[in-house]
Amino acid sequence: MANNWRKNLKKEKKEKSSSKVYGADTPLTEDFPPYRTLIVTYLGASVKEYLENYLNFLEENQWYCPVCSAKMSFHGWYRRKIITLDGTTTRIPIARYRCSNCRKTHAILPDFVAPYRHYSQVLIAAVVEEVVSKQVPPERVEGNQDIPTTRRWIRRFLKRCHEVIGVLESIAFRYTGQIKSLLTEARSSPWEQMLAALELLPAVKATSVFGAVNLWLTMDVVGLWL
Ligand SMILES: [Zn+2]
Repeated sequence: MANNWRKNLKKEKKEKSSSKVYGADTPLTEDFPPYRTLIVTYLGASVKEYLENYLNFLEENQWYCPVCSAKMSFHGWYRRKIITLDGTTTRIPIARYRCSNCRKTHAILPDFVAPYRHYSQVLIAAVVEEVVSKQVPPERVEGNQDIPTTRRWIRRFLKRCHEVIGVLESIAFRYTGQIKSLLTEARSSPWEQMLAALELLPAVKATSVFGAVNLWLTMDVVGLWL
């Protein structure tokens, strides 16, 4: 029985790894195993701090399954590439945890990592803020990324921001019991609306606004992140 189960798991893993359907709008490489869900959390202010402390950060917490809320235990590691703020490329280990109940595995990403993208989330958030909130032309924003990449980040944010704001509002409602629709502030930019939605919630430690948003989203819904 136990052996069958292992065999099935192996088979399932094999099928998953050959699957090309990831639900993300960015082409993926072998850096991004096709996990159905992931958890974004604060695991240090920078790549350096993460590399120095991730084992402690991970062990200090009990991790719960985002799908069924059961306890999870450590399952393994994979390495993924990240392009840091100064443009250098490095590889960092990412922990996988497995749910004791539904057996799904979940990657635990530090919040400076942008799910399914190589560039630092800190840079992506800064660039999106410049364009969407401060109206800087995409040709003149910071970072080493090319202009089409900047435009893709903006498009992706604008496509998802309303759903994101709605989820943040509904989490805030559960926390505070108050409905505070931000629709009355429809004249402000999506960036400001997202900040206002985030302010409805208790403050969390994060390396960027997108990091904080992802922390709430991945705690609450499956398959939605910035
Ligand atoms: Zn589960």
